Amino acid sequence: MSAATILQELEAVSKAAVDELKRVTNEEALLAWRTTYLGKNAVVVKAFSSLGALPTDERPLVGQGANRVKAALESAYNERAQALKESALIQSLGAQALDVTLPGRPRNRGRLHPDTLILRELLQIFGDMGFQVFQSREVETDEYNFQLLNFPLGHPARDMQDTYFLDVPNRGDNPLVLRTHTSPGQIRAMREIASLNPSNPPPVRVIVPGMVFRYEQVDVRHETQFDQLEGLAIGEGITFSDLKGTLTDMARRLFGPSARARFRASYFPFTEPSAEFDIQCFQCHGKGCGVCGGGWLEIGGSGMVHPVVLANGGYDPARYTGFAFGFGVQRIAMLRYGINDIRYFWENDLRFLEQF
Ligand SMILES: [Zn+2]
Repeated sequence: MSAATILQELEAVSKAAVDELKRVTNEEALLAWRTTYLGKNAVVVKAFSSLGALPTDERPLVGQGANRVKAALESAYNERAQALKESALIQSLGAQALDVTLPGRPRNRGRLHPDTLILRELLQIFGDMGFQVFQSREVETDEYNFQLLNFPLGHPARDMQDTYFLDVPNRGDNPLVLRTHTSPGQIRAMREIASLNPSNPPPVRVIVPGMVFRYEQVDVRHETQFDQLEGLAIGEGITFSDLKGTLTDMARRLFGPSARARFRASYFPFTEPSAEFDIQCFQCHGKGCGVCGGGWLEIGGSGMVHPVVLANGGYDPARYTGFAFGFGVQRIAMLRYGINDIRYFWENDLRFLEQF
């Protein structure tokens, strides 16, 4: 057989093979096809064994032709095999599984808790005013939680804060407690800052955010744990006006430029004078509505730091004065977002959390 004849035959077989492959619809027919066109008796395979009988100068031409056809048939085979495999998969899953018009499944995205959102806003507000965050411990001693804050043992004001005591024996008059307020952070911050220069203590501008714990009956307004934000400023010549200015500015930045703050005389052992502070209702602007009742919203407690507390913190009350305030972070979040039940905060109910 001449080289020209062999090449012609290869061409014809290749064309026939490709045509036939198009009609192959199952695996059995596919295997038969491979035996016919790529098996040991296939034309293309025989073309290689006939090379030896050809004149030397014609061998490369036929060899290249046979290689080309063989590669083309192999790739056609692989393509068809893949297509058959896919269509078999589709059939086994049923048409429904590959309905491309079905909407995709939404991916759930995490988001910040309303408490975190408000806390970050508050940290920003006080950060702008020059306050630094001071973190204090959640397990406290009676000494720091009460005694150093001018609540001596047996003081009736201790009844204002129902306390969790830790079951640690032999601590006498200084049991461990879960802090009932962030105020022990006042003493810790003062002592830490005063220790930098005990004879001439530097001024203090700190806020102490954190979880506090009370042995409370849980209801819409009370939880056994909640976040407080404490503020403390100590220096020479600090007056009650500074306190009013600071909290009024906070109110404006939280609730808008027309927000007003109001101070009502009160009593706390660690401040003198003491005042509760309210913010004018942002809904009704003082007229009275369902949110506020009388036009004002109670926010927290404040006052000038008691001389005993200043001295306990390492600051000479004859030289230094200061103010302190504290309020519930959830209280602010409830007002801002119109949340009417404090229990939502820790229930982890997605219907609630997804609204923020
Ligand atoms: Zn109102």
